[in-house]
Amino acid sequence: MPLIICGCTSSEERNTHRGCVKPRHEYVGAVLGEYEHNGGHDSDFYAVVWDEPTQSVTTKCWGTTSSWTYHNHCRVDATPEVIAKANASMRPRWTERLRARMEADARLVRVGRVVRSTTTRGKNAGLVGEVAWKGRDKIRSTRYHTYYRVGIDVDGTRRFMPVENVEVVEPAPVNEAELAQSVESAVRRDWPSQYRSFVYTAGAPLPQ
Ligand SMILES: [Zn+2]
Ligand SMILES: [Zn+2]
Repeated sequence: MPLIICGCTSSEERNTHRGCVKPRHEYVGAVLGEYEHNGGHDSDFYAVVWDEPTQSVTTKCWGTTSSWTYHNHCRVDATPEVIAKANASMRPRWTERLRARMEADARLVRVGRVVRSTTTRGKNAGLVGEVAWKGRDKIRSTRYHTYYRVGIDVDGTRRFMPVENVEVVEPAPVNEAELAQSVESAVRRDWPSQYRSFVYTAGAPLPQ
């Protein structure tokens, strides 16, 4: 069975004690998994589904404790064909996502990486050196936002500047074998955890 969504329009229909009299079936053969999202006071129930019109994996909220949804049900029922299509659609999405993360990671300013100052005037203009220290900017940081400074070694002298004023020189290219391995371990997970982690990594801030 798929998602069964109540089409009852009156309280009489809802209270027949015979179950739903106007059930609507959605995503037949296309429910990949389900999970519960716990909010502050309520829980929402989600299905991870294959959406044929858009040829993509998405989620559908089919029930919640915050309103009357007792006639709605969810049964994981994806066919092997649908699972194959879903897997085939997620692999390139993960590849793109994880490649972008690895590229961003290579550009992160870290101790040991060689960086270049991007300022065009003043005493730090154009300096190149290895990051020897990175730490909290005590002057600019507030309780809401932490700023960082780096100390880079240039000709035996340590020069300090805001981390946003430097960039990594020649960031390492993405290791394709490592990327392929990360993609495989992402798609091997069960659908609810795979989908949630896909959504989560979209907005996740990179570590400093
Ligand atoms: Zn109903
Ligand atoms: Zn919620």
